[in-house]
Amino acid sequence: MNVSVIGYGASPLGGVFGETPVAEGIRAVHCAIDNGINYFDVSPYYGLTVAEERLGQALEGKRDKIFLTTKCGRYGKVPEGFDFSAERITASIDESLKRLRTDHVDLLQAHDVEFCQDPDQLVNETLPAMRKIQESGKARHIGITGLTLKALRDIATRAEIDTILTYCHYNLMIDDLDDVLTPVCRDKGIGLINASPLHMAILTAKGPPDWHPAPQEIKDTGAAVVKLCAESGVDLAGIALRYCIDHPYVSTTLVGMSKLRHVEANLRVVDYQIDPEVLGRIQKLIAPVKNITWIGN
Ligand code: NAD
Repeated sequence: MNVSVIGYGASPLGGVFGETPVAEGIRAVHCAIDNGINYFDVSPYYGLTVAEERLGQALEGKRDKIFLTTKCGRYGKVPEGFDFSAERITASIDESLKRLRTDHVDLLQAHDVEFCQDPDQLVNETLPAMRKIQESGKARHIGITGLTLKALRDIATRAEIDTILTYCHYNLMIDDLDDVLTPVCRDKGIGLINASPLHMAILTAKGPPDWHPAPQEIKDTGAAVVKLCAESGVDLAGIALRYCIDHPYVSTTLVGMSKLRHVEANLRVVDYQIDPEVLGRIQKLIAPVKNITWIGN
């Protein structure tokens, strides 16, 4: 897959960061496609199937212009919302395809694998079931996603997978992705997808949603960075997204979008140049909490 450097994160279409009118979400998706974003990421979990429904609606007549990826195994909150059994995975893809109004996805990912109680199940049951789905033509590639880098790395060393998606491990606030995961992806030729360049809305004027699991000190620091950028007339989303796009190995950076103005702003990042002086001031603010993470949400 030859994917665009900016990928469309569709979780906001499911209302994960607050409600967006359906028509606005459709306009956002169409603007992204018309301007060259060709990679779309969704999951049955986002908005408990709403994001898949809305993305499917927006993609009517446009499906063949993009790479479409969804997930399986996560359907609700921790701990009861997970089912990585072969039976559930096999049913899940059919449900997703129906909602997405297509006959295949380009990538099917096991969602948030650190919550699978038994890693052996993933290796011996889930991933083989996903390979069968690939053989059937319903998915072109298979991968895994999650927050815990070591869990992702361990599975990547035990099983054959095409891609890994991780989030909140490479952006202005954190960069431990390269210590743990990037080397194994390079060695094994695994596609690496980096999500959440805005640290799941911490680096936005609106701020993080109530459910955001980061410790308060990280949220407070994010708010201080937002204030600094507002006072200095700096486009924080621009600098944050550009920082991620410049990663030398990551194939695509997934940013969550459901509003037209965010798609338009994020497209401009392709031509954005980071001012090193401004970056230095932001990094100084972040330094006391740099690389602090949390348990998956
Ligand atoms: P993000 O860091 O991309 O932040 C999204 C938030 O930023 C939303 O509130 C959005 O409205 C806002 N935003 C986007 N562009 C903006 C701009 N220019 N100005 C101001 N605000 C802007 O976090 P995310 O959405 O969680 O991550 C991106 C995508 O990655 C998700 O939508 C999802 O598709 C994927 N993802 C997957 C996993 C997983 O598989 N486990 C986990 C996290 C994210």
